[in-house]
Amino acid sequence: MYKPFVLIGLMLFSLVSFSQQNYKRTLKLMGSRFDITVVTNSEEKGNEYINQAISEISRIEKVISSWDPNSETSQINKNAGIQPVKVSKELYNLIERALAISKLTNGAFDISYASMDKIWKFDGSMKKMPSEDDIKSSVAKVGYQNIILDKEHQTVFLKLKGMKIGFGAIGKGYAADRAKKLLINKGVKAGIINASGDLNTWGKQANGEDWMVAITNPLNKKKAFSWLPVYNSAVVTSGNYEKFVRFNGVRYSHIIDPRTGYPSTGIISVTIFTSKAELADAISTSIFVMGVETGLDFINQLKGVECIIVDESNKVHTSKNIQLENYK
Ligand code: ADP
Ligand code: MG
Repeated sequence: MYKPFVLIGLMLFSLVSFSQQNYKRTLKLMGSRFDITVVTNSEEKGNEYINQAISEISRIEKVISSWDPNSETSQINKNAGIQPVKVSKELYNLIERALAISKLTNGAFDISYASMDKIWKFDGSMKKMPSEDDIKSSVAKVGYQNIILDKEHQTVFLKLKGMKIGFGAIGKGYAADRAKKLLINKGVKAGIINASGDLNTWGKQANGEDWMVAITNPLNKKKAFSWLPVYNSAVVTSGNYEKFVRFNGVRYSHIIDPRTGYPSTGIISVTIFTSKAELADAISTSIFVMGVETGLDFINQLKGVECIIVDESNKVHTSKNIQLENYK
């Protein structure tokens, strides 16, 4: 007697679960391409959730942008060497975490790298190598130790005139984490926030399968090395193959060693796997500065963080717990 009920029950269940779909939108935010995907049961809801994620990312952009003269970040930069600036709890906490990553990476990651933006340009406009003197004087303004936080008054002070902070290596990851959190709080069961290759997933696709990420070959972007499942975690790749300059046969990437003022060399791309996109974003940048050997050593000592590094000769290096089959 009970069998038909079970059957009906099952049918209803599958109707409900099949009505779930992946809804995706691509747009430009924070100067980068974002792909936002949510799993839900109507296009209307899909659109609404995506709109909410977009407002959250735009809101963050207004706080951390160094171009927008009205952002809190610009206020901090304008007051470098002059006075501490009171900021929102959100920005204060972000800077505090950025400083913790600077310490963790021995200064390879440093949001005060930004004063070097003036001498290194990676958009093709640079015709000759900056002089040693120029590099020396620009790097003199760099140093996370000169970012002074005052928790009680919630202020940030850049000690030196001409100092500048920028969130180019952590902002997209932070935004991806926040957008994910917001959607989870709204009850969205699954999705992906992909900020130009800084991505963060939760739940599973509408068809019940894991989200998959393609690890691509930098020299042949159309051909994937390997596909990996990503369950409730972040995968972030640093290495924009267009953003580099070449002088005297050396390929300089857009990630600069804050300690020397010279761009990093030797690595083409770094992919980091961990739970938070923000940490992954910052660490991927740091590995460029550390180089292959130190970088692998560093990752192998961190719990819950793995990496794939592609060096200049297109050799692939992986941290201890990553097995990439069928690549080449
Ligand atoms: P992308 O987003 O271009 O793939 P990253 O996430 O690694 O790459 O960020 C690189 C950006 O970070 C640079 O364009 C610059 O704005 C900033 N940056 C460069 N060097 C450093 C550094 N040593 N520490 C922190 N930020 C950096
Ligand atoms: Mg980064």
